[in-house]
Amino acid sequence: MKQETKCIQAGYVPGNGEPRMIPIVQSTTFKYDSSADMADLFDLKASGYFYTRLANPTNDYVAAKIAALEGGTAALLTSSGQAASFFSVFNLAGAGDHVIASTAIYGGTYNLFNVTMRKMGIDFTFIDPECSDEELEAAFKPNTKLVFGETIANPALIVFDIERFANAAHAHGVPLIIDNTFATPINCRPIEWGADIVMHSTTKYMDGHDATVGGVIVDGGKFDWMAHADKFPGLTTPDESYHGLTYAKDFGKEGAYITKATAQLMRDLGSIPSPMNCYILNLGLESLALRMERHCSNAQAVAEFLEKHPKVSWVNYPGLPGNKYYERAKKYMPKGTCGVISFGIAGGRAAAEEFMGKLKVAMIATHVADAHTCVLHPASSTHRQLSDEELTAAGVSPDLVRFSVGIENVDDIIEDLKQALD
Ligand SMILES: *Cc1c(COP(=O)(O)O)cnc(C)c1O
Repeated sequence: MKQETKCIQAGYVPGNGEPRMIPIVQSTTFKYDSSADMADLFDLKASGYFYTRLANPTNDYVAAKIAALEGGTAALLTSSGQAASFFSVFNLAGAGDHVIASTAIYGGTYNLFNVTMRKMGIDFTFIDPECSDEELEAAFKPNTKLVFGETIANPALIVFDIERFANAAHAHGVPLIIDNTFATPINCRPIEWGADIVMHSTTKYMDGHDATVGGVIVDGGKFDWMAHADKFPGLTTPDESYHGLTYAKDFGKEGAYITKATAQLMRDLGSIPSPMNCYILNLGLESLALRMERHCSNAQAVAEFLEKHPKVSWVNYPGLPGNKYYERAKKYMPKGTCGVISFGIAGGRAAAEEFMGKLKVAMIATHVADAHTCVLHPASSTHRQLSDEELTAAGVSPDLVRFSVGIENVDDIIEDLKQALD
């Protein structure tokens, strides 16, 4: 199936006389005829449902759809994108381990790694995604467990060289995890470029309607954990909390990572999305391909308008031919990048704030990447906890306006920008 078809049909195939839409199984528990049936589920010997904190049919239908869209073998939905970022890393790295992450990542991910996960004893090296090969090589340590990057960084819009970082990670026997939130699997499929695990904040384009907060982790099913068994004991040695089963042996390359994340992390930490929210996420996914097309064509027109306007000092959109990442974006995302643009208003921070107050169609919101056009000044909101140096490292200047182009009629969006600039 092509991506557009998967958006509609993958993940759930109704049987004869069954509901056309995925059923909302709004139940915490599931009933069994005997204790023995239940015991097999608890031991992961049989597959089935017993408690929604670990798994629920509605969630699984939607996870299977996203796995198909990303070209992965298994997926796990989480209650937020933050939970997905945390689980994706914590499933492989613990106290005493080391992780390499791009500096061009979402501010919330940076805090999660640099503050909270450091407190858990995990060491991070943040590396400029444009660093030299020598710098990249020097970042690896014997205890490095993974490399983490973002396809199109929110909000810096830096396009990550997935193939280069995948090759470097694999040369050191560790996987590459990619946050593919902004590109979506409609515009980029990181697994095809060598990424091993992909995660998303589904809160953004996947849901697409400002309706539900959520996340997902997808395993490409290609990383050979047993070939690097000493690095990943959590996957390659017996789990005593499951009577000694070994994920990489019992579930293979295709299933080990997601089974461990479900069986250990969901069991112990929770963070499962409600079945109702998964149903709403699925509604968003059904139109994802169609919406991404419109987001990209609208954003292209808006970026071209802004680029010509005398009151705009600079425009950053990877779809503009003059952009530093134009060629790389064409390679990884030939159909388009995303609907998010950043630009600077001549006159700096104060002028940017005044301009934002004059917008009518574009609403001031913390959110990005959904059907509604919205606008934000990161230095005074989402990124306010970062120092000036950290801001610069993350590619966010104080005059930066983040403009998330929705799927309204583009003439209305441009007219709104024009009157506010005037
Ligand atoms: C929003 C966002 C997150 C965090 O997701 P939440 O759903 O808000 O928890 C992670 N990564 C990227 C790129 C994001 O835009």
